[in-house]
Amino acid sequence: MSATVHVIGAGMAGLAASVRLAQTGRKVALYDAAGQAGGRCRSYFDETLGCRLDNGNHLLVSGNTAAMAYIAETNAAATFVTADIAAFPFLDLKSQERWSVRPTEGRVPWWLFVAGRRVAGTSALDYLDALKLTRAAATATISQTLDARRVIYERLWVPLAVAALNTEVEQASARLLGMIFAETFGRGGAGLHPLYPKEGLSESLVDPALAVIQAKGGSLRFGQRLRSLRFEGERVAALDFGRGELALDAEDSVVLAITAPVAKDLIPALDPPDAFRAIVNSHFKVETLPGQAYSFLGLVNGTADWIFLKPGVISTTTSAADRLVDRDAEVLAAALWKDIAQAYGLDPAKLPAHRVVKEKRATFACTPAQLLRRPKARTRWRNLVLAGDWTDTGWPATIEGAIRSGFTAAAALAA
Ligand SMILES: Cc1cc2nc3c(=O)[nH]c(=O)nc-3n(C[C@H](O)[C@H](O)[C@H](O)COP(=O)(O)OP(=O)(O)OC[C@H]3O[C@@H](n4cnc5c(N)ncnc54)[C@H](O)[C@@H]3O)c2cc1C
Repeated sequence: MSATVHVIGAGMAGLAASVRLAQTGRKVALYDAAGQAGGRCRSYFDETLGCRLDNGNHLLVSGNTAAMAYIAETNAAATFVTADIAAFPFLDLKSQERWSVRPTEGRVPWWLFVAGRRVAGTSALDYLDALKLTRAAATATISQTLDARRVIYERLWVPLAVAALNTEVEQASARLLGMIFAETFGRGGAGLHPLYPKEGLSESLVDPALAVIQAKGGSLRFGQRLRSLRFEGERVAALDFGRGELALDAEDSVVLAITAPVAKDLIPALDPPDAFRAIVNSHFKVETLPGQAYSFLGLVNGTADWIFLKPGVISTTTSAADRLVDRDAEVLAAALWKDIAQAYGLDPAKLPAHRVVKEKRATFACTPAQLLRRPKARTRWRNLVLAGDWTDTGWPATIEGAIRSGFTAAAALAA
């Protein structure tokens, strides 16, 4: 019998590892404790609203190279709507000013010299401040590095940093944000076209992957929680899913693509990131959208950070939202709808049917100290590799980071 790769955890990391391994002829068995795949990136049917929702709004851009490779390998490109242009529209709820950051397609940032493409109230020189990020000390935070007195700080650096790193700027790593800017804005607008799942996250990022894994002979095993691993010398010898041990053959290997706290429980020798930040999402069911379907709007001075429009649903996202998670859901819904109403000229008192979703430990906190705790994919056991957005991907905890970790794990096993 040919060797099996047991992939534990069917979030984006485990799916990416499984797809890559299956595509290269490896026999894959994919397990997840939950009854379905997708982990923190999936859709579900919401009984209250009577429609499918994504567990959170997830924004991908065309320059997310690993995500694009994954979408190609899973034949999922047609399940997305890709925006024709790179544009990041914003509204300042306090001043009522609107602007749209519109980078030009190429690497040379000509757009900085056109006022209508910049943040309102900024000059081209303000953008040079971002260069300080890449030169910052490894221990420096964003607020220590960028000039908070400039208009651009509140209107662009903070919204982008909080969205990408899910960590408040007073705590978040300056260098990591510098890397993100280099990999996205630094490559020009061609890499900044937003991609929206037409139906939902599961239909675009999960189901197509499961289809590829199965078509290549892989097996899917849901409702299987890994309870322990048995180590023997320099290898994992057996897995226990609570129904007796599954002994591994000599050539079998394991990709552990679970969350950091569970990995720590199963392998106490690990010291992964252990500080987390919340994300609050809200969904409002509407008959008619007040703007263009498949679009978003960044907010400054709102309870919500971003508003997303999708046929039938208006959603909001607030990142690094620890200050909000203990608030009453109805109070939050009213505050978030007020932001939407103000942005699109709707009645703040006419709250549609809604759902507020609070993810307390949405991602690990991208602080300089937490980044040092991220482990490499390879472990001291020759047939065990790690994957997950919390491993050392060089990226924050994002879809792109999780997919990268899965590809790295697959490459480590191939090597
Ligand atoms: C609300 C929200 C909004 C977000 N917004 C964005 C965004 O806009 N853009 C972006 O790029 N990223 C976003 N993210 C982050 C992104 O969702 C994650 O980085 C990514 O999905 C993590 O994938 P993963 O595979 O590393 O982990 P997970 O998705 O957590 O997958 C781990 C899997 O392991 C399983 N598991 C755990 N323990 C066991 C066990 N013992 N045995 C078997 N299985 C187990 C779990 O059930 C889970 O399916 C958001 C996250 C949240 C929560």
